[in-house]
Amino acid sequence: MLSVESIETCYGPSQALFGVDLAVEPGQLVALMGRNGMGKTTTIRSIFGLTPPRRGRVLLDGQPIQGRASHRIARLGLGLVPEGRRCFTNLTVRENLLATAQPGHWTLERVERLFPRLAERTHQGARTLSGGEQQMLAIGRALMTNPRLLVLDEATEGLAPVIRQEIWKAIHTLKQDGLSILLVDKTLSELLPVADHCVVLEKGRTAWTGQPDELTDALKDRYLGV
Ligand code: ATP
Repeated sequence: MLSVESIETCYGPSQALFGVDLAVEPGQLVALMGRNGMGKTTTIRSIFGLTPPRRGRVLLDGQPIQGRASHRIARLGLGLVPEGRRCFTNLTVRENLLATAQPGHWTLERVERLFPRLAERTHQGARTLSGGEQQMLAIGRALMTNPRLLVLDEATEGLAPVIRQEIWKAIHTLKQDGLSILLVDKTLSELLPVADHCVVLEKGRTAWTGQPDELTDALKDRYLGV
């Protein structure tokens, strides 16, 4: 469904990606991995046209989408939960969710069932939510666009353990529902059991791809510093 082929991406004069390849098949959860600064966020920004690649291709269902404006790319069915979970802090939880709504499976009721904390706080201002609740809201907002592929950058970083568990539970539910997911997260103990496929970046390149059970301790040590 999504195919990234040999993309190279720069921030002004400084090149960050030197050849990233990855693919997400329908219904798959693909883990995008690598140490800090290896290019995970830049890869996601490249897919969404936020930092367009200079070379290579991004294909959605076989159609090239690189070079299109990011709002057009989102409308093709890609949902983004960015690092740092951006919500409208001056709106309520419900207003935030309705602001991105597109017709489809995911409705306000379904999102609030996935995250009961959001249902309890539906009329509360988003600025009063904890970091973890804001992350749930960011995921809910992306789901409300009814994406075919959900992309999460650092899904649980910096959140309280109880909230992390709720978010992992939701990710399992989304996968069971058949949603295609590209996920960045540093918690290998949670990430590997839910992943169908792993893509490891090193210095802006795809360095290794394989099944989670093929990621040996030696590979983890080499590429992830674990
Ligand atoms: P992290 O886990 O720390 O978020 P990452 O794997 O997501 O790391 P990126 O954020 O994609 O890595 O960074 C890849 C490279 O691009 C790094 O060398 C980084 O310093 C550089 N980079 C990232 N953002 C910018 C920017 N806005 N301007 C210039 N260079 C940048």
